[in-house]
Amino acid sequence: MKIKEIKIGKVSIPLKKAFKTALREVHSAEDIIIKVIADTGEVGYGNAPPTAVITGDSQDSVIAAIRDTIGPKIIGMEVDNLERILTTIEGAMLHNHSAKAALDIAVHDLFGKLYGIPLYKLFGGYRSTMTTDLTISVNAPEEMVRDSLEAIAEGYTELKLKVGTDVQMDIKRVKAIRQAIGSEVKIRLDANQGWLPKEAVRIIRKFEDMDLGIELIEQPVKAHDFAGLKFVTDNVETNIMADESSFGPYEVFTLLSMRACDLINIKLMKAGGLHNAAKIANIAETMGVQCMMGCMLESKVGITAAASIAGGKKIITKTDLDAAVLLAADPVVGGVSFTKNQIRLSDAPGLGITDVHGWQEIL
Ligand code: MG
Repeated sequence: MKIKEIKIGKVSIPLKKAFKTALREVHSAEDIIIKVIADTGEVGYGNAPPTAVITGDSQDSVIAAIRDTIGPKIIGMEVDNLERILTTIEGAMLHNHSAKAALDIAVHDLFGKLYGIPLYKLFGGYRSTMTTDLTISVNAPEEMVRDSLEAIAEGYTELKLKVGTDVQMDIKRVKAIRQAIGSEVKIRLDANQGWLPKEAVRIIRKFEDMDLGIELIEQPVKAHDFAGLKFVTDNVETNIMADESSFGPYEVFTLLSMRACDLINIKLMKAGGLHNAAKIANIAETMGVQCMMGCMLESKVGITAAASIAGGKKIITKTDLDAAVLLAADPVVGGVSFTKNQIRLSDAPGLGITDVHGWQEIL
């Protein structure tokens, strides 16, 4: 099976409700979905939601990187020579992790189809189901309480609260939500780089004194501030997770060598695809550090790929793959299925995706 052609297209899917973090506000998921077509006619699906504020990749940069620079280098390559294709993608240009992730996912999908194996089994086959949390956007405390109660009524047992806009307000938000939902439901916080290191220590200690039962706190400080992240981790009891700081395997290796965080959030668009996500999981496992599998605002193509690596690896113990349920529609046929907060992987080869409705080719 040889790679014959790469088609680039996109889908635009409205969100059920505006997605708000300390970094941005979004009303629809714009996902670039590519089809890597083999000479046998098989199609490998991959995706790249351009998330400029996090990865630096825009829609135009993703398209140009795939169409003009990386894509042409893998045309004609044998799919069974996976490692050779992946190193070609990696070495074609610096950065551009989202474009590389889209190609990496699609090539893995084809490889799975070639050998008749679902991707989560290719990556280790540790679990075929997992529980995802649900993200609650940062808003006024009353609105966040309402959204949290709604989520619990829908069956969610883990909430990820977006905070990081204003310290006093953040305390009000978390306190109000914990009071409203009781002690059973897990609360994770994501500050999306919104605090300064000392400010983060002060606020997290306050959360601890108030006994709010916070499971973990994601990315309290700026992405590049590894020393600041370590300062926070060293000075609070609560587990600190690196997200925007933990880009690819090299950053994760550096963070864990410094002991700058307690947990790692893996995302395919930061890592540059499944093969680097697997490396990150292996580095973290070597250091005894558990991982969460996260996502961007994206279609079920990327969610299925992310769930496949999370299903494969034992060390990925937490799942934040709620993007597909934040969308008002699901145009992707096949792949993972959702029952409330439960994600079930398909046993079909590769990603198990057979079609994407409303896919518009970009020529
Ligand atoms: Mg995050």
